[in-house]
Parts: sequence; C-alpha cells; structure tokens
Amino acid sequence: MMKWADKPYHCLDYEMKRRFGEKVYRLALNGGMTCPNRDGTLGTRGCIFCSSGGSGDFAASAALSVTEQIQLQKNMIRQKRPVRKFIAYFQAYTNTYAPVDYLEAIFLEALADDEVIALSVATRPDCLPPDVLELLDRLNRIKPVWVELGLQTVHAATAKLIRRGYELPCFEQAVSQLRARNIEVIVHTILGLPHETKEQMLETVRYLNDCDIQGIKLQLLHILRGTDLADYYAQSPFHIMTMEEYTDILIECLEQLSPDIIIHRITGDGPGGLLIAPLWSRNKRTVLNTIHSALRIRGTWQGRALERAADLKQEEYPCQNHLHYTS
Ligand code: SF4
Repeated sequence: MMKWADKPYHCLDYEMKRRFGEKVYRLALNGGMTCPNRDGTLGTRGCIFCSSGGSGDFAASAALSVTEQIQLQKNMIRQKRPVRKFIAYFQAYTNTYAPVDYLEAIFLEALADDEVIALSVATRPDCLPPDVLELLDRLNRIKPVWVELGLQTVHAATAKLIRRGYELPCFEQAVSQLRARNIEVIVHTILGLPHETKEQMLETVRYLNDCDIQGIKLQLLHILRGTDLADYYAQSPFHIMTMEEYTDILIECLEQLSPDIIIHRITGDGPGGLLIAPLWSRNKRTVLNTIHSALRIRGTWQGRALERAADLKQEEYPCQNHLHYTS
C-alpha cells in the first residue's frame, strides 16, 4: 500500500513534488525576533529545551538582510544539489513577535524572490493578534503561507514542566483563526518529553488528528548543553528512549495519523556539538534508515490504525453499508 510514492507515509517531499512538480528545499531564516517566553513577558528562560538559538540553530544570521540570508542559504544548498524552488522558513525564536509593519517588510522581502514558492512562519499560538492574522491572510493570497505552531504535547503537566507558557484552548483558537483564513497549520510535537508515557505521546497525536491541521513535525527530544533541560536531566534523570523505542513509538504515531496530514519531520535536528542525549540520534541517516526499514518490515503505513478501526466498525454494523448502497 504505497500511496505516497516510495514512502509509507505522506512525507513533505512527496507533497512538494505533487504540488510544485519538483523537489523544494527550506531556507532557514532569522527575522531577528525574540520570544515572550524569553524577553520577560511570560518568562526569561524560555521553554526548558530551547537552546540559545531559539530553536533555530541552523537558521542564517539575523545580522544579514533577509535577501542576503536567502542568497547565502541557496548557495549552501546548491553546493550539494541543483534546486530551483524554495520555502522561506522563518525559524528562529517567535516569528510573529514584532510590530506588524516590520513583519510585513521582512515577509514581503522573502516572497519577492522568484524562487521562493511559499512562506513558512514558526511561532507561538499566543502571538497571533488580529493585525498579524490580517497580514498573514494578505500574504497567503500572494504565495502560500504556512504557520508552524510549537505545541509539543497536549498534557498540561508536561506543558507546565517544559514552561510552554500557554494553555490548550489558546492553541485551538489559533488553529481555528488560521484555518478561517485558509492558512495551512503545521504543528510541532516532541516525543520523549520528561516522564511522558507512550500512551501519552499517542494521545497527543490522536488529539491532533481531530484538529484541522495540515502538517506535523514529530521530533525526538534532544537534551542540549546549556539548556535548563540539561540541568533538569542532571538533577532528575528521566528515561531517554533507545532508537528501537523511538522507532516503535514513531511508527505507532504514524499509524494513528490521518493520511491527509503531511509529515514534515520524523526525527530531531539538534546541533551535534551540544547534544547530551540521546547520543544515538547524532547519526540522522542511520535513524531514518532504521525507521524506514522497520516500516517496511512491519508492512505498515500512515493511517493504518484508522483503517483498522473503520473495518471493525463496518463488521459491527454491516447493514449500514448495505443500506447506503441500496437506497
Ligand atoms: S517558544 Fe520557541 S523560541 Fe520561545 S522559548 Fe519556547 S522554544 Fe524557544
């Protein structure tokens, strides 16, 4: 059952080729913003796992203009592969946390590049005031705009522990406001947060399945040097998943996810030099190969659990189908 070319899940690469006819790469940009969880508005130390780069450790330098960052990133990517289409991804910190005029200027600068085919903005759901929503709505009529929201978990106790700084209804409101403007929503989740069980991680995925979201990043928790999470881990060690455990949970998450939801990421991406745990995640290629080979061996795919549930329902109420086809 291969709906998505060579992968048993609805990966971004497949979706980009389907929409744009070819491979598309992200340009990781830095709009020079901060975050309410860091500037003292909500807190000063940020989310417990957040590195000094504001979860944008691979983004270009904010000292450069957006145009310069785009050029630099394109050059880097093109050293390895010939690419013609790009997504301008504002990644570092909270990319709607600035006056709307400033946001408009930097987003328009990115969209003005002919090779930029979409804009992706990473932000927090509590940083989408009406004027920013109105701006995103306007930009979405020029080129597709995606908004990436860092939810990480649906569990209140974990959200408090990681100092996420907003409650679930805030996320739900942001999703509905973005969808009312036809803006695609991509949600970041973290697998392996302190003390979360496998069932809790699956609950997060099941909850998102019922939200009107278009994409998801399933990210492995990285403990990075210099973060409060590193101190917490040193003082109160918690279970760090093995690669086998991660593969197992990730596959179950994929099985529970609707086939319509685009999978933007199935592992983490932290700066190797700062990584404390899990060290096995350093070799991203090995992790991806392990996951892909486990999917193949198990003969499973994204949404399989939903199909199974539908089949069971069908067996339970067979006459419904009969009525449907004969009426
Ligand atoms: S919201 Fe993002 S940038 Fe802000 S502290 Fe949390 S992870 Fe870092």
